[in-house]
Amino acid sequence: METKQFKAESKRLLELMVNSIYSQREVFLRELISNASDAMDKMYYRSLTDENLAFNQADYYIQIIPNKADRTLKIIDTGIGMTKEELETNLGTIAKSGSFAFKKDTEIKDGHDIIGQFGVGFYAAFMVADNVTVKSKALDEEQAHQWESTGTEGYSISICDKEQIGTEITLKIKENTEDESYDAYLDEVQLKEIIKKYSDFIRYPIKMDITKSKPTDDESDEYVDYVEEETINSMVPIWKKNKKELTEADYENFYQEKRYGFDKPLKSLHINVDGTVRYNAILFIPENTPFDYYSKEFEKGVELYSNGVLIMNKCGELLPDYFSFVKGMVDSEDLSLNISREMLQHDRQLKVIAKNITKKIKNQLLHLQREEREKYETFYDSFGRQLKIGVYSDFGANKETLQDLLMFYSSTEKKLVTLDEYVKRMPEDQTYIYYATGESIDRIEKLPQTEIVADKGYEILYFTEEIDEFAIKMLMNYQEKEFKSVSSGDLGIDEDSNEETDQGKQEENEELFHFMKEHLSGKVKDVRASKRLKSHPVCLTADGDISLEMEKVLNTMPN
Ligand code: ADP
Ligand code: MG
Repeated sequence: METKQFKAESKRLLELMVNSIYSQREVFLRELISNASDAMDKMYYRSLTDENLAFNQADYYIQIIPNKADRTLKIIDTGIGMTKEELETNLGTIAKSGSFAFKKDTEIKDGHDIIGQFGVGFYAAFMVADNVTVKSKALDEEQAHQWESTGTEGYSISICDKEQIGTEITLKIKENTEDESYDAYLDEVQLKEIIKKYSDFIRYPIKMDITKSKPTDDESDEYVDYVEEETINSMVPIWKKNKKELTEADYENFYQEKRYGFDKPLKSLHINVDGTVRYNAILFIPENTPFDYYSKEFEKGVELYSNGVLIMNKCGELLPDYFSFVKGMVDSEDLSLNISREMLQHDRQLKVIAKNITKKIKNQLLHLQREEREKYETFYDSFGRQLKIGVYSDFGANKETLQDLLMFYSSTEKKLVTLDEYVKRMPEDQTYIYYATGESIDRIEKLPQTEIVADKGYEILYFTEEIDEFAIKMLMNYQEKEFKSVSSGDLGIDEDSNEETDQGKQEENEELFHFMKEHLSGKVKDVRASKRLKSHPVCLTADGDISLEMEKVLNTMPN
């Protein structure tokens, strides 16, 4: 038996590691499972070049064995194992990654992609254990060896008995302290959750005995406990499956399993990209607005996986704010991760992916708008406001992306229409896209200002939300047609009456107008005879660029 000291730097590094790299202790399991998976992948690669080695998929699995009485947790794999030298170099030297070296020496194909690269993951075990024993039998060695360490005090290596090729790691789970409990890592149910959360898509089965209970016989109310081995992980991620083999129900199940929402997704999007940055994604457009959606508490983002291993729960950089309602996940093998694998080193790849999925979401929404109008209306009812906010914010930078997704209620169609549909219906003599603002469709219908435009046979868009007019002001025009409020001074309509008669009316009623102006002083700027009234005796119009409705909103804003 030889006892060795960690190198001085290693000792400090280890302390640092254990205490500061990971924000959550539970990721230790992700790291150990990833290593086990890597070790089995290495067997697979060896079998490609070694004729004597047959790779029989059923022989490769990971076993998790918690033991509450002993306070131990075992992680066993049937991978390539480690020789005595490998135990020493790979586990005895921090930041030494045998897997990274292996990757460099082996041509990786087939999607059997090795996860390890930094040579620190293993030490995460010391966040939850004060003693770690690694028994390993390497493919190339007769004798098995055991590596043991209590963390910062160095490690010892000795020979041991182990029949099967592979590695068995035993963690002696820390005792609970006043502030911290480590019991979760000995509990079947909680372990299962951690595995599901981080390692669901590891390609090898992760097995654990689960205690269940059943009635002693058909008639009895008595229950007996029994143990059944379960494979915890789903292994093949849905996003790597062939789209043709998947149904809408499969995506819905995934949505529910992942608890992206309590509703059903309105539409799902399955993306496989093999470009400069490779990635797979499954994205959802939800049906309902989350209760906190339009509040500050709402956090946008999709899950980010690197090679099937969860890195981030909510990656906000992948979604622009105006598509913040999108749920789902992105998996890429091309991310450069930082050491804790919780953050990314460069966001170049992320930017490429974000741009790409933004385009795809837009196209999916346009498709929905064209082909499944009813569903689109449901979507628009939930998230249309967010699109309008998107048009308005960033000084209209997103108008190209968003303008075709907008819809407004139409005076002639009596339903929501797109701007494109409006423009296509415009008669030749119509110059502007007309809109009217008000609290509700009913209120707008009664506005005297709409009459003259409606009488011309022109369609009017009804703006019932405060944001509507602000968004439109940002667009300025659509397909070179300017927007015009029905209450603006010049409607651009040939109002078929001659100046003289109006002048006459103005003079005839001078006294009345004067009287009214006096009584309304401070409330109106002027009282005049109008050419635009048909059945209504009077109407309010706005001078200049700002409509009455906008004025109202601006007046309510804090200075
Ligand atoms: P990384 O996985 O980033 O390389 P780790 O600290 O997790 O770093 O592991 C260090 C090295 O130890 C691995 O690269 C691998 O060579 C070796 N190793 C760890 N766990 C196992 C295992 N279960 N079977 C075989 N080798 C292992
Ligand atoms: Mg690792």
